[in-house]
Amino acid sequence: MNLELKDLIRGVVDKIVIDTFFDMSPELDIISKEDAHVKGEIVNEDQHIIINVHVTMPLVVACDRCLEKANYKYDFVYENEIKKEEIDTFSLKKLIDEELYLNTPMQIICSDECKGLCMKCGANLNEGDCGCEIEPKASPFDVLDSMLK
Ligand SMILES: [Zn+2]
Ligand SMILES: [Zn+2]
Repeated sequence: MNLELKDLIRGVVDKIVIDTFFDMSPELDIISKEDAHVKGEIVNEDQHIIINVHVTMPLVVACDRCLEKANYKYDFVYENEIKKEEIDTFSLKKLIDEELYLNTPMQIICSDECKGLCMKCGANLNEGDCGCEIEPKASPFDVLDSMLK
């Protein structure tokens, strides 16, 4: 526990203003990132402390479809009450880490129109048609068909 939280619990101060940056590494295909900016306050209230922070973190990741650069920005508000007994193990950084995890989308793509990669040759289809023909799935009747010819 850091010193400021002790002061908060003892009632020396009523609230702590938070305006800090954390170097976070969410589980994404990160190409480049900025530190997470955490801004808000922690307020002393009876048996609890109340956390209210706004978290922003811009980053560039690999597009889930074409693997080119895709921009993404975490931008959410985190609010919670923590019992004072639990403050001993409190870590704002750890908490933000968990929140980033919960706020990570299933898929990040470079644009809604991203065409992805060709299943056959791996070409980026956003850069043009590679000319591959995607064959329909072979069915058992095709084999029978060729036997009859
Ligand atoms: Zn893409
Ligand atoms: Zn292709």
